[in-house]
Amino acid sequence: MDLYTALSVFIFIFGLLIGSFLNVCIYRIPIKKTIIAGRSYCPNCNSLIPWYLNIPILSFLFLNGKCQNCKQPISFRYPAVELLTGLLFLLVWLTYGLAWESLFVMLLFSILIIISFIDFDLQIIPDSLIVALIALGIMHSIYYIIFMNDNLLNPVIGFFAASGILFALGLIIPDSIGGGDIKLMAAAGVFAGTKLILLALFIGALYASVLAIFLLVSKKGSMKTAIPFGPFLSLGIITSVIFGERLITLYLSIFT
Ligand SMILES: [Zn+2]
Repeated sequence: MDLYTALSVFIFIFGLLIGSFLNVCIYRIPIKKTIIAGRSYCPNCNSLIPWYLNIPILSFLFLNGKCQNCKQPISFRYPAVELLTGLLFLLVWLTYGLAWESLFVMLLFSILIIISFIDFDLQIIPDSLIVALIALGIMHSIYYIIFMNDNLLNPVIGFFAASGILFALGLIIPDSIGGGDIKLMAAAGVFAGTKLILLALFIGALYASVLAIFLLVSKKGSMKTAIPFGPFLSLGIITSVIFGERLITLYLSIFT
């Protein structure tokens, strides 16, 4: 195994471990419990989980998806979030390699994963996560302005670009857009910049439309079914940050 492959495997396993931590955040942030202290416990019987049964993916398989103590099924979502994080970290590594950008984007994706699952469960996006996203975006912008010759206008317009469109849409069609969605696109716009956040909004809306059409056609939903927009916007941001530049280049090469 060469060094690049070894590092890729390491990044993937690192992602699984971070995913395990993100599960804790998804569960504890909405109920305002500390995320940095306290051992993991079963949400059903409250028994503590020993470290050797808290290994990403493997423990879930070993325990056959059941709590060792009360035999209550463990949500399939725990290993799914771990796997998702591992795969996204691997994708970031394969895209940016050994660079600060990898670290920035991994942090961005981690926050977006937490936001997506909390929004999916509770239809809220906690302000603490929006603040974290803005802080990360500002650090990312400073890095880009100093080392990549970016200008200050890009993150500032990025803040207003997609969020402004959603805000206007919310004025035209009342109750269509949640305040959390507007804040999410404002905060992520600081990180992604003007071009990529607009693309992210377009891709996110596309994903949501595809699901909406699927729900209507398969009669699993009606025109009144509410779907949380946050996860789709997050997926749009992830797609745009990883593939955006290439998509824009491809688009321009076809149409110009
Ligand atoms: Zn239990």
